[in-house]
Amino acid sequence: MATVLIVGRPNVGKSTLFNRLVGGRRVIVDDLPGVTRDFVFGRVEWQQKAFEAVDTCGLFDNPKDIVEEKMKEVTLDIIDDGDLILWVVDGRNGLTAADHDLANLLRKYKKKLILVANKVENEASFETNVKPDLYSLGFAEPIPISADHGLNIDILLDSIIQKL
Ligand code: GDP
Ligand code: MG
Repeated sequence: MATVLIVGRPNVGKSTLFNRLVGGRRVIVDDLPGVTRDFVFGRVEWQQKAFEAVDTCGLFDNPKDIVEEKMKEVTLDIIDDGDLILWVVDGRNGLTAADHDLANLLRKYKKKLILVANKVENEASFETNVKPDLYSLGFAEPIPISADHGLNIDILLDSIIQKL
């Protein structure tokens, strides 16, 4: 089965998105960055197709200890094995320096990638304040979603199935 990896820096809503895709609350969502300490796998079905979603523990920009260092390393390791990357960024507050570093890193993998802008409950603000920056990264059209409120999840799922 195809594997879809949810990656991004801590706190952008990867686990919330995973739960939304898989259904039910399967992984812990927390305000503390980096609460996911392992990879969590879940089967997703959409339009008679199925794939395996993987919630990764996050690509720490500045690993503060050996555990975070290891978690980042392990996340990078599995990127090679994934069929599609969902790179999640914060669509409300925009990109950080860490996101720009991540962009450079992810570009090197030459993997199929969907840029997901999460926390977009206010689409007008996203269009003006964040979308232009996302375009400048040079990836394909970002998909604005709200994992928390379930907005545009169907559009994201369509796009995933289409790319697999
Ligand atoms: P992770 O570290 O990337 O796995 O992020 P989490 O899924 O644990 O979420 C981090 C924080 O962002 C939590 O407080 C979530 O409730 C919040 N969050 C996640 N998705 C959304 C969203 O779509 N909109 C808003 N406003 N907050 C969200
Ligand atoms: Mg998490």
